[in-house]
Amino acid sequence: MAGFFEKLKGGLSQTGGGLLAGLFAGDARIDGDFYDELEEALILADVGMPTSTKILGQLKETVRAQNIHTSGEAKQAMVELLTGIMRPEESFLPQAGQAVLLIVGVNGVGKTTSIGKLAHYYKQQGQKPLLAAADTFRAAAAEQLRIWAGRADVPIVSQGEGADPAAVVFDAIASYKAKGLNLLLVDTAGRLHNKKNLMAELSKMRRIVERELPEVRCETLLVLDAVTGQNALAQAKAFGEAAGLTGIILTKLDGTAKGGVALAVREELGVPVRFVGVGEGIDDLQPFDPEAFARALLG
Ligand code: GDP
Repeated sequence: MAGFFEKLKGGLSQTGGGLLAGLFAGDARIDGDFYDELEEALILADVGMPTSTKILGQLKETVRAQNIHTSGEAKQAMVELLTGIMRPEESFLPQAGQAVLLIVGVNGVGKTTSIGKLAHYYKQQGQKPLLAAADTFRAAAAEQLRIWAGRADVPIVSQGEGADPAAVVFDAIASYKAKGLNLLLVDTAGRLHNKKNLMAELSKMRRIVERELPEVRCETLLVLDAVTGQNALAQAKAFGEAAGLTGIILTKLDGTAKGGVALAVREELGVPVRFVGVGEGIDDLQPFDPEAFARALLG
């Protein structure tokens, strides 16, 4: 656990996040200059304008109400404020519940890796995951996923390149039922250049899940590369329109990511971050902890 938090903190202490941490490290007087610097630091940390404005407004209110004078005193208020913005309305995947997770995202964001890590994570939790290789568009996708299935020691269902993704899901559900499993992780092709196809493909998969597993919760999680900052936010907006997202997996927070996009997606899109990735190893993924994340952002 400590290792995970250190990686997260190490990543977020780069440029944007580092500025934020710096602002709250000392005991600077809270005045107009402080708020200007804070706004700049939030923008540089990829929080985005609308969310930064909201945060500043709320912090000003708290500072007034609690008679706070220095940045050191304001730090805890800021942690609570950021935690409040990022906290999801409901928790994710109650233990032992059944679920289908459709995983979407553009190539290179860390989708395959995240599915492998998720399979491992849930297996460690005593769940019984199955992978479905429904990204039949890329020849290498199923093969990469198979390698992760091996690492996580979970079964996988795939068909040949160019197969109908919905047919893969159908096959996978049959296997899921036959083997008495309880978590189906579906890798999907993230081709955003054709939103209409993407939408049609995802809704077809969802329809099959609803028909074959009517009692089972189906989530659509978008994988975003946190390093890409505001571009990640734009991707989330586009996917949100096409795919009806229910959550975000934020990867590469160990790199040069500034992390503020976690606040932006929650505030601007209403979609909570569910998992964060901090490396390429199988253990480098954990459920999102809003308070730990806020503390890491603030140093
Ligand atoms: P996909 O094309 O979206 O399926 O992306 P991959 O899963 O193949 O990952 C693309 C690259 O990002 C690979 O080199 C991964 O090792 C790397 N990667 C994925 N997640 C993380 C992460 O959390 N941190 C770091 N540093 N690298 C990651």
